[in-house]
Amino acid sequence: MSVEIVVLGAGESGVGAALLAQAKGFAVFVSDLGTIQPRFRDELEANHIPFEEGKHSHERILNAYEVIKSPGIPDKAPLIKALKEKGIPVISEIEFAGRYSKAFMIGITGSNGKTTTTLWTHHILSNAGKDAVLAGNVGTSLARTLVQRDPEMVVLELSSFQLDGMEKFRCNVGILTNITPDHLDRYDYVFQNYINSKFRIVQNQISDDAFIYSNDDPVIKENIGKFAINSEPCPFSISHKGMAMVDGNQLVIKVGHVTLEMPLDQISLKGKHNLYNAMAAGMAALIAGASAESVIKGLSSFTGVEHRLEPAGFANGVEYINDSKATNVNSAWFALDSMTKPVVWIAGGTDKGNDYSELYDLVISKVKALICLGVDNSKLLQSFNGKVGIIKEARSMDEAIQLANKMSVSGDVVLLSPACASFDLFNNYEHRGKLFKEHVAKLANQ
Ligand code: ADP
Repeated sequence: MSVEIVVLGAGESGVGAALLAQAKGFAVFVSDLGTIQPRFRDELEANHIPFEEGKHSHERILNAYEVIKSPGIPDKAPLIKALKEKGIPVISEIEFAGRYSKAFMIGITGSNGKTTTTLWTHHILSNAGKDAVLAGNVGTSLARTLVQRDPEMVVLELSSFQLDGMEKFRCNVGILTNITPDHLDRYDYVFQNYINSKFRIVQNQISDDAFIYSNDDPVIKENIGKFAINSEPCPFSISHKGMAMVDGNQLVIKVGHVTLEMPLDQISLKGKHNLYNAMAAGMAALIAGASAESVIKGLSSFTGVEHRLEPAGFANGVEYINDSKATNVNSAWFALDSMTKPVVWIAGGTDKGNDYSELYDLVISKVKALICLGVDNSKLLQSFNGKVGIIKEARSMDEAIQLANKMSVSGDVVLLSPACASFDLFNNYEHRGKLFKEHVAKLANQ
């Protein structure tokens, strides 16, 4: 029988997994149906790891001892189905890497807020002097990290696709930020399937572990009773009592014998959603052993993440905010909710089956003008017609910023928070956000 491990997909996680498998003494073969990025191809060659691109050689792959699959490949893909039929285990890079680590694992999932909460938790722990590394959806893959060394703790961003490929992996701390419909195309358009996937964050947890979750999230509250959860429940809430909660104008977190109290206005990122993220990150850091004092420092000094409500500067007295990462309705809701000035809102792109009605109240009360930035803006136009004073269309970022400049007056804010994917006009949300910042900078220098 072959003892070859096959890695499907040669991105950061796939190449990381291949390197770790090699380091652990396995024969490895990497197969990617698309084109492999030159830096990854060079790395495979330099390490003498055999690979193929532009195809999957079924015969070889179906002879694997185990297959490590990139989270981007759906379970419905014929090759994956064939592997499962043959009884060949198909796991994720995180599942594989987890076998070779003794680190304290903090896993973070949710529909929105994953990256912010992950980076914030890491920021607090690093500043508290802990040997914590970032992995998962952000930065270096866990497998690649482990080729070098096994750190004291890992802060891991987990998408639902990664959770789907995890069987035995255990999170010492699991965080579930919220659940709103997303990626339903990968879950047979059944919301419950996606919910079940998110709750995999608690699978394998034991009574020593902690499950941090939003007690203000209706979907989590409705579903939490359906799962066997062995870890300690650690709810956070703005409107109710919780292990992390709001008392007057103070954030209060109680973990064991430690109580942390800090004024809400000292939390460095603004908006209700960031208060949730701060609660989750603060609790996780306390549980991981950071002192209350260092957590307060970390919560007040984190500068945020690019493309997430990122300040992009001022031009003609108008503030510009880049929230290009808001690719669904819920994240745009939180962005609009956190605005305190009249808003010129730039939205639109590739629609993912959006229902805009939940934005109506916020838009009516806060948005003075809407700029629809997409190839097909018909749904936005139809949804907000009569709810916003002025609605215009733009087909490029340049045009959108020029329109925003004309439509705004000193004291307004121009918010790019698209509620849509970016692929109609841009390569990805980063590209969209970078162009936004470039055009704002140009305007500011005129
Ligand atoms: P993810 O990694 O889950 O996509 P990010 O931290 O990158 O989350 O944030 C994505 C978008 O969602 C940003 O536009 C941000 O403003 C918004 N957001 C961040 N945290 C939350 C939250 N807790 N609830 C809802 N929206 C959020």
